This record gives sequence, structure tokens and C-alpha cells, in this order.
Amino acid sequence: MEPIAPMTPDSIARAAALLRSGELVAFPTETVYGLGADATNDTAVARIFDAKNRPSFNPLIAHVADTDEAATYAVFTPLAERMAARFWPGPLTLVLSRRPDCGLSRLTSAGLDTVAMRVPAHAGARELLRIAGIPVAAPSANRSGLLSPTTAKHVAEQLGDRVAMILDDGPCAVGLESTVLDLSGRTPAILRQGGLAQEEIENALGEPVLVAGADDTTPKSPGMLTRHYAPTRPLRMNASAADPGEALLGFGSVADTTMNLSPAGDLVEAAANLFACLHALDTPEYSGIAVSPIPETGLGRAINDRLRRAAESTEQL
Ligand code: AMP
Ligand code: MG
Repeated sequence: MEPIAPMTPDSIARAAALLRSGELVAFPTETVYGLGADATNDTAVARIFDAKNRPSFNPLIAHVADTDEAATYAVFTPLAERMAARFWPGPLTLVLSRRPDCGLSRLTSAGLDTVAMRVPAHAGARELLRIAGIPVAAPSANRSGLLSPTTAKHVAEQLGDRVAMILDDGPCAVGLESTVLDLSGRTPAILRQGGLAQEEIENALGEPVLVAGADDTTPKSPGMLTRHYAPTRPLRMNASAADPGEALLGFGSVADTTMNLSPAGDLVEAAANLFACLHALDTPEYSGIAVSPIPETGLGRAINDRLRRAAESTEQL
């Protein structure tokens, strides 16, 4: 079946309903076409990673219809308010502190206590977000490692069999990803260059802005500024059972688990539960977290990637 639908009030309403029911919908924005899912739904967000075949869980951008809606999920400092007033809607993503219990899936922000938010300028995209009434997590709608799509046809070629619908509104006006500006720390920093020029941001800030990777005092690649979430307690992979004091995070039909990522052995379900389970088990009640073996296939690769980083970051403790 051809999933491409011209963007009309009718197709937007259908797409909004699909998003609300946890389906994947590709939609145009002014930057590139996005692969959208309900950012509050763990399973829907896990499907994004599965469809893109992403080998790791990087945090996603949550798209919303306006700044008021963004403020229900993220903390707006006066500076963040100023930048949003100046550049939203538009190709600027703001990384802000995540409101505790804001309802966003932990997978959307890859377990971090910050969240990336954007109000796109594309009229159809905003209408979709307004009617859906939910934040929509949307990375570029391409397979991992391939080019970002700027037409619906690009999306159909790469993900046509993985999405419920592709809204088509012609080529993207900007054609570059959004600029990512981190306002969650002490100093604003550009984490990724994109559709909004650095000069425009500096004009608004009234001073030069730090660019990740631009000099020796900052991390080499934008990804490195994205501190990866890891539990504070030691984590042990490929465990057959818990040692005394440890919690056992199971997968599949494993006995005596403290929690189970997916009793049925479903990797999409396991990905959906991963960060919530790690947070829940990272308490003084346990000396560490032992995790059952996860198969190195499909989303299992991304799960193991994250567990490996967590195991390494706690090895020295
Ligand atoms: P994409 O999903 O391909 O549009 O990429 C999203 C970009 O935003 C990536 O460069 C992420 O590293 C960055 N990003 C998203 N959320 C965060 C966050 N909480 N902290 C830092 N960077 C983020
Ligand atoms: Mg991308």
C-alpha cells in the first residue's frame, strides 16, 4: 500500500489520530521530514529506533505546537523564553531541563534530565501537532546512516514499509536539520549547527556563543556533550542471576527477576522499558544492577550499546 498522502485537513486529522494511537507518521517540517511518534508513549518511541535501525539511543527532539505547550514539559528560564519568543516557530531546537513527571517517555530524552524541544514553522506540521495535542518525538525520517529526507519520496524509499502514513507537502524549505542550542547548563552552547545561523543566535544573545567541538576546552563532537544517562550503581551485563544485594533486570523467561524488560522476550518492549527500569532500580535498596543477556539483533544492539556504556562508566567506582 502506498502510504503517501498529500497534506490536507483530512489527512492531517487522520495522521493526528494515528499518532495518538501509537503509530509512526512521517511528516514534513521546514527543516527535513521527521519520523514522528507520541513522545509520551514508550512503545511508540521505541518503534522509531526500530524503524530507523539506529544502533544507539540518542535523545530525540520533542515537537510541540507552541511555547506554552513546550513549557508543560521543560523548564523555561528567562533566557529560554527570550530565545523561544525570537526564533519559534522555526529551525531552532532548545535543550532545556526536563520537568519531573512531565509525562514524556524516558526514551525520548534517552534517560537524561534534559529534553530537546522545538516548535516547527511549517504550517501543516504545526496544525498536525495542534490537532494531535501530544508532543511528537521526531528524528529525521531516514534509515540510520543514510541521508536526511527532504521529500516524501525520500521517506517512502527508506521507510515506506515501516510507517502508517507519510504526509506529503513537497520539498522542505530549509532542507537542513534544526540548530540545537543547549540552554540547560551555565553557558549556552550550540550542540549542532543547522538551519538557524550561529550569527542570529549570537545577535539575540548579545555575545559569542560556545560551539561544541570548536575549541580545545569543549568536547570534540556534539554527541559528546550529550552526557549519556547511566545509573549511579554498578551495572553488570549478561548476568545469569543476581549476586547478593543486586537487583536482577531480566529479559525473557528468566526466574527471580526484580523487574523484567520484556517477559515475552520482545526487543521493542524491552527498549520501551529500558530507561524507566534503570531509573527504578537505581536506588539505595540495591548494591548494583545485574542484567540478563539481551540478543545482539534489531533493537537489542541499541539496548546493549547503552548497557555497555553504563557498565563501563560504573566500572571504576
Ligand atoms: P535528530 O533526532 O536526528 O534530529 O537529532 C537530534 C539532535 O538533538 C541530536 O544531535 C541530539 O544529540 C540532540 N539532542 C536531543 N536531545 C538532547 C538532550 N537532551 N541533550 C543534548 N542533546 C540533545
Ligand atoms: Mg538525523
